[in-house]
Amino acid sequence: MADNKNNKPGNGFRITSIIYILLFIGFGYILFKDDGSELSGEASYTDFKEYMEKGYVSDLVIYPNMNTMDMYIKPDSAKYVFGNRATQPQIKPMLTVGVGSLDNLQEFIDQTEQSGTFTGKVEYRKRSHTFTDILISVFPFVLIIVFWILITRRMGGGAGGGGGVFNVGKSKARVYEKGQSDRVTFKDVAGQAEAKTEVEEIVEFLKNPKKYTDLGGKIPKGALLVGPPGTGKTLLAKAVAGEADVPFFSLSGSDFVEMFVGVGASRVRDLFRQAKEKSPCIIFIDEIDAVGRARGKNPAMGGNDERENTLNQLLTEMDGFGTNSGVIILAATNRVDILDKALLRAGRFDRQIHLDLPDLNERKEVFGVHLRNIKLSKDVDVDLLARQTPGFSGADIANVCNEAALIAARHNKKKVEKDDFLAAVDRIVGGLEKKTKVMTAEEKRTIALHEAGHATLSWFLEYANPLIKVTIVPRGRALGAAWYLPEERQITTKEQMLDEMCATLGGRAAEELFIGHISTGAMNDLERVTKQAYGMIAYAGMGDRLPNLCYYSSTDEYAFQKPYSDKTAELIDEEVKTLIAQQYERGKQILLEHQEGHHQLAQLLIEREVIMAEDVEKIFGKRPWASRSEEILRDDKTAPENAPVVENKDKVEP
Ligand code: ADP
Ligand code: ZN
Repeated sequence: MADNKNNKPGNGFRITSIIYILLFIGFGYILFKDDGSELSGEASYTDFKEYMEKGYVSDLVIYPNMNTMDMYIKPDSAKYVFGNRATQPQIKPMLTVGVGSLDNLQEFIDQTEQSGTFTGKVEYRKRSHTFTDILISVFPFVLIIVFWILITRRMGGGAGGGGGVFNVGKSKARVYEKGQSDRVTFKDVAGQAEAKTEVEEIVEFLKNPKKYTDLGGKIPKGALLVGPPGTGKTLLAKAVAGEADVPFFSLSGSDFVEMFVGVGASRVRDLFRQAKEKSPCIIFIDEIDAVGRARGKNPAMGGNDERENTLNQLLTEMDGFGTNSGVIILAATNRVDILDKALLRAGRFDRQIHLDLPDLNERKEVFGVHLRNIKLSKDVDVDLLARQTPGFSGADIANVCNEAALIAARHNKKKVEKDDFLAAVDRIVGGLEKKTKVMTAEEKRTIALHEAGHATLSWFLEYANPLIKVTIVPRGRALGAAWYLPEERQITTKEQMLDEMCATLGGRAAEELFIGHISTGAMNDLERVTKQAYGMIAYAGMGDRLPNLCYYSSTDEYAFQKPYSDKTAELIDEEVKTLIAQQYERGKQILLEHQEGHHQLAQLLIEREVIMAEDVEKIFGKRPWASRSEEILRDDKTAPENAPVVENKDKVEP
């Protein structure tokens, strides 16, 4: 397993045990000493004077450096001094006395010697602190330290093992060394073909940095893996490390954040120091939004200074090492939008790799990966399983496989059967329903018809953007989406705008025509269309009854008053309504004309969840208006990945 170099559970533990042993010895010493047979104790200076005058004292040993003296009592006088405790003859009964002034003491001794009450020896000695003295003076500090350690351990969440007080500033990264037998490779990552091609370059670089640096090439320092939870972001990062066979540092953004000030920044420093030592290597920061959230815009609010310090340190470190140092940082997040813009700047996480929920075929592959180690009965049909799990993430599928095996084991089966899988799916759907949307068959049909509506219209409208792919895999709040390749153009004509509008309305039109009732699934479309229509009428001067009038003011953007009369406002509203109604009607006409094809398309979507332009072409034949960009698309199969792509999502607001 992982060799947690910086996480030795020993460190904090060893120190505490030493302290415990010291304490134990100390207490033992005190107890033992009190139990001793020697008669001893302390006496005040007044007592001392009294005993001297009464002639009990045999000898004195004075320690000038400690301002104390030992007063030895004559054995036969011990009973007066120690009372009952002196029943047995003691060897040398002794009392310790604090001395205020050595001069006064000497004077007093001289007096008693002259008066004859004291005849013993007086000795001056130097004494070092005894063990007990040291212990007593150190004891409170030891106690405080012990408490501190216990508290920080508790906070550090003990389980990690690190977290002792001497380790707070250390990074909590888990390190996977190179050359491990159980390393993850691309084989373990099913689907996500695009993401895999994206990271391939990183692997190449890590394997053979010289090839790139010799040519003066620069490799990105960081890449951001963006996608919903459980889509395999961590897995992919691990696979990159595994493929390149380099060490892999893994930690979560929240590991940087601790209640102590300055800890986060020092952890970042420590992490990069360690990484540089092991370069080439990969640092993986999960949930980078925990530290990377946009810094407070309002300085007066104070904000979370500690988090900002950590983020600043991270940025500094990323700038601080050269592109060729061989440390590559991969970070995962579900929310690029809330990340600080500074993180996304060139030379930092300037690459974004998107991971999506798997579609039907990808789900089959994911099942393939996770069923490898499961004893399957013959009746298990991967195809059916993939069909039963729309909207599941890779992690959910891994979970299904595991759960199915557990259910089978519970029933003492020799092999995992189909029923076990179905039960597992049900169980996980139950858990998921609270978190994400799981589609019912009816919903799926509605969404398919809707998206097929967009696809059909954009196929038959001359100026609509050529379609690349349509999906009904839910992602985030989007139920389905269609991607188009936009034509590059500086100005847009009215015809183009109308065609786009019509295609956008196609979803709703298809719902009305073929389902009979309309749904909220078109909200996003309608919003876009409405905005566009207002733009056309009020700003672009395209209204029939309001030609060549632009009510947009480029000088004062935040005008509080409309630059037109109420009458004009009414007119604008009417024009917008007519415009949209016309396009909607046009859309319905086209859909009715190509009803057959539309239905085939929807059916294909239900089956496959994703369809590409080729599939649409098979149904409708060649697009009547093969535009320039579409020819590019046809000539060069890689074009869609690199070209700017517009994505029309069908979102439903909560
Ligand atoms: P994320 O980091 O995106 O939240 P993880 O990488 O931690 O997701 O995925 C959790 C688990 O889900 C993985 O360990 C793996 O078992 C499974 N998993 C997720 N995506 C895939 C995939 N594409 N192929 C195979 N397994 C996957
Ligand atoms: Zn739509």
